[in-house]
Amino acid sequence: MKKIMLIIMDGLGDRPNDKLGGKTPLESAYIPNMNRLVENGIGGMMYSVDQGIVCGSDTSHLSILGYDPVKYYTGRGPFEAMGLGIMVRQSDVSFRANFATRDENNIIIDRRAGRLDEDPGDLCKALSMEIDGVEFIVKNGVEHRAALVMRGSNLSDKISDSDPHSVGKAPGTIVPKAPEGKFTADVLNKFLAKSRDILQNHPFNKKRISEGKLPANEILVRGAGMTPNIDPFQSMYGMTGGYAVGIPMIRGLANLIGLQEIKVQGMTGSIDTNYKGKIKAAVDGLAKRDFVLVNVKAPDVAAHDKNPILKREVLERIDEAFYPLLDILEDTVVVITGDHSTSSESGEHTGDPVPIAIASNEIRTNGCTRFDEKNCGISSFRIYSRSVMQYALQLSDRAEKYGA
Ligand code: ZN
Ligand code: ZN
Repeated sequence: MKKIMLIIMDGLGDRPNDKLGGKTPLESAYIPNMNRLVENGIGGMMYSVDQGIVCGSDTSHLSILGYDPVKYYTGRGPFEAMGLGIMVRQSDVSFRANFATRDENNIIIDRRAGRLDEDPGDLCKALSMEIDGVEFIVKNGVEHRAALVMRGSNLSDKISDSDPHSVGKAPGTIVPKAPEGKFTADVLNKFLAKSRDILQNHPFNKKRISEGKLPANEILVRGAGMTPNIDPFQSMYGMTGGYAVGIPMIRGLANLIGLQEIKVQGMTGSIDTNYKGKIKAAVDGLAKRDFVLVNVKAPDVAAHDKNPILKREVLERIDEAFYPLLDILEDTVVVITGDHSTSSESGEHTGDPVPIAIASNEIRTNGCTRFDEKNCGISSFRIYSRSVMQYALQLSDRAEKYGA
């Protein structure tokens, strides 16, 4: 039996770009190691979730790992919360949250509290409380971003947002979307009222006001979601697994399915990450495990910044880091792909399929010699994200026989 390495380059696919002479970043990149991998395996295209679906990273990662997002995607809240290090439990309700600025007329004047250049950790601590038997846990992320988790019994995610989603409006009162959401809405409204007092009078904000900065005097919540009741990876596949992932949401997902964290020095979840260190740690991590998941976020970040030249550059840096993968093909099935395409022209995710290469020794190769949209597109190999794990399992001689 072989081991499996699954490397997801976030936002990998792209569209032809004028700044690259009508090529995609991948088509114009110098990527000898990716090309060697595709030569040593099967090259083709992967549909993220389904044909033409414009996926988020969360739904696509769920699907690639073999978990149907229709069943398990219960909103971004739980994924964000887990990614910020909150050990979310089954009956919790989680939200995405923003520290925002509210004026004396109760109007939101900045949804990001001036993008909050200081660590609001003390604010989060001050907001951790218990009301009517429900525990509130707040943890901050990057800048103004945070997560809120409600922990207690009889909680429901069938409630509205307090986030008005634009400036110039008052924060919304939480209302139930179904009868079972009433208790949760009531307790959350009490929390939000209390939090306004606490935030308004907190030394953190008094200092900001004295410095002429916008105070973080409101916490806006959105996207309530119950933690999905999800089967552990090990019981699904009979493999022990680890992950080398920088971005919180995917770290949260990996935690939830019981993958173990592989620590990487200098991993940032962005452009300045330690590419070589990450791939090396992932390869080393395979010594103790059957499966490793890697996510490299940088291509998606560059595409969101509408910077195809930077995207090409990070793809080349990733490729440089890939050289150890060529040495493990004897006992490992290496899968390299993306979670979705992200257009460097529009800066948005698209529903275009994504190149995929599945490489290992002694498997059928299909003559694909270059890892990009065009060459993988010419190949007849097409796979849906939900079948990627199963395909890798059978190539690693781990799949169970269907029938006699
Ligand atoms: Zn993504
Ligand atoms: Zn993205």
